[in-house]
Amino acid sequence: MTTDAVVSLDYVELGARLLIAGGGIGGLTAALSAAAAGQQVLLFEQAAEFTEAGAGIQVSPNGARVLHHLGLEEGLRALAFVPASAEIRHWRTGALIAESPLGEAALARYGAPYYHIHRGDLLTLLATAASQHPGIELVKGARVENFEAGDKVTLHTSRGSWTGDLLVGADGIHSVVAKQLWGEAAPTFTGNIAWRALVPKSNLPEGLVPPKTGVWWGPGRHFVHYYVRGGELINCVCVVEKPGWEIESWTEPGDYEELKADFAGWHSSLQQLLDGADRQSLYKWALFDRAPLKTWGRGRVTLLGDACHPTLPFLAQGAVMAIEDAAVLAASLSKGWDAPQALRVYEKLRRRRTRAVQLGSRRNATLFHLSGTRAWLRNLMAKPASGRTLDKLYRYDALNAL
Ligand code: FAD
Repeated sequence: MTTDAVVSLDYVELGARLLIAGGGIGGLTAALSAAAAGQQVLLFEQAAEFTEAGAGIQVSPNGARVLHHLGLEEGLRALAFVPASAEIRHWRTGALIAESPLGEAALARYGAPYYHIHRGDLLTLLATAASQHPGIELVKGARVENFEAGDKVTLHTSRGSWTGDLLVGADGIHSVVAKQLWGEAAPTFTGNIAWRALVPKSNLPEGLVPPKTGVWWGPGRHFVHYYVRGGELINCVCVVEKPGWEIESWTEPGDYEELKADFAGWHSSLQQLLDGADRQSLYKWALFDRAPLKTWGRGRVTLLGDACHPTLPFLAQGAVMAIEDAAVLAASLSKGWDAPQALRVYEKLRRRRTRAVQLGSRRNATLFHLSGTRAWLRNLMAKPASGRTLDKLYRYDALNAL
């Protein structure tokens, strides 16, 4: 896409001209949602292509509902995997602690499925839909540097400057837009690192991994695995309390022997799973926490997704919150209110829920890693407690939040 093609949007008579900084899951979903609601959208992504490092992501029904509404159901069904249930097991014995039905049961209960999908597949699906929408222009290789806001907003990028009616910073945890609005947010290292690995199913003995989300709780660490890419690959996310290593990057390669040592003594099926891992797909990521922001936006500028509520992965809701944000933002923009008012309504509707999810994810970091008597008590309580929390999360309908 050239800059010239982008400028041609000046002549399109649509709604407000919305500038979006960042083309991750949040930015692209916001572009599709806003365009579907009649806005004209310009999205700026620093990368040359819309890609994500190899790993999986869980999209619960509250996110799937929004993606279906955007016409992506067919693509999701082709690329994703629908788990039959989510099981929590004891790290050493493999004893079942709790099981929540997903699959058909989730569809019947929430009206949308629970998906597991490769991040790259989801991003390609979103970017392809956005590139085909007449109301959206995607500007790749454009790093957002700063903005000026008054009666309009001008965004300065490495590929030039653009003016619009509104700016949404969907530029992730290190958001340039958030920094300009509120200064640098000091992140705190949680003391946890996350290993991520992909395992081809063909590397494993038949039937080793059931078609379910597997969560294994152990002292000071936990292990999550689930199928992606229609069941061809198994995505593993393994979290370990490990002070002293603090690199926050999706692409920091990991050392396989270190991962194996971290889970030494864990159940034999997890050892077999790790033995089958594709060594090139191994990454290590330090998990940082940031306090919920009290205010997201000002004037014609707002934030969305990790830019305003970076969320630890212990409820698998960070990207889903960004997807929900997108739907609520689009609904608010379609009400005919003036731009700042529409943005403040969006923020008000989203702040409380995203804050609760941020704090709930933080609490789970402690809960998942208990040992001794406290772990035994947690296991007794696990089923009713997690069922209620998740039910509330998955029932939320972002499309009707207004
Ligand atoms: P990002 O994905 O960070 O996207 C930001 C985009 O902006 C990127 O494309 C980036 O290149 C671009 N960008 C950044 N700066 C600039 C700039 N200056 N100019 C232009 N472009 C810029 N969430 C779930 O819902 N389910 C899960 O199962 C799940 N699992 C997780 C597992 C792990 C180990 C971790 C760490 C997180 C997990 N999450 C999960 C959280 C989820 O990954 C994030 O919440 C989600 O990616 C946030 O999306 P986003 O679009 O807001 O930000």
